[in-house]
Amino acid sequence: MSVDELLLELENGNKKFMAGAIPNGETATVKRLLSIDVQNPKFTLFTCSDSRIPPEIIFGMSLGDIFTIRTAGHVLDEAALGSLEFAVGDLKTPLLIVLGHSSCAAIQKAMLTENFPGALGSIQKHIRSAIGEETDFQAAIAGNTDKTIQNMIYKSPVIATALNTQQLKIVAAYYDFASGKIIFSKLKY
Ligand SMILES: [Zn+2]
Repeated sequence: MSVDELLLELENGNKKFMAGAIPNGETATVKRLLSIDVQNPKFTLFTCSDSRIPPEIIFGMSLGDIFTIRTAGHVLDEAALGSLEFAVGDLKTPLLIVLGHSSCAAIQKAMLTENFPGALGSIQKHIRSAIGEETDFQAAIAGNTDKTIQNMIYKSPVIATALNTQQLKIVAAYYDFASGKIIFSKLKY
């Protein structure tokens, strides 16, 4: 499948979700039985931990389709980067989606002047370094997604090589809670 075909599959799955469909349970049982010993996901998804983003539901996908990594604000720490390298380098998924979303609390908190303690403060620092001085909330969400992609390419030789050898495409996307629509940006990477 080409990357364009893969993107179309995601868009069509999202349209079904917007129309009220949820993945078929019978198909899920068959897929579970077929994938006991191996996984061969078509997509890698890096997104926020927000409870309103169940990946298989909003993309109309099923078991074994999406290798998902989630942290609050899709903060790219070492574990997230290692998980992405596993998906790209070992599982060789051809398309990686980095998905930001509306009403992201992690980004809201990063834009406050108040500093949070401990590990929550670490998330705040990560997001602040990604969004810089941005004061517009929507622009900050988009900026965080773009910077996350740039950082993973910069920090990971596995991801950079996969891009350079055309084995991987990365696309930024945005999920709007109100409409249920996932908006994909133009392929830049
Ligand atoms: Zn979020």
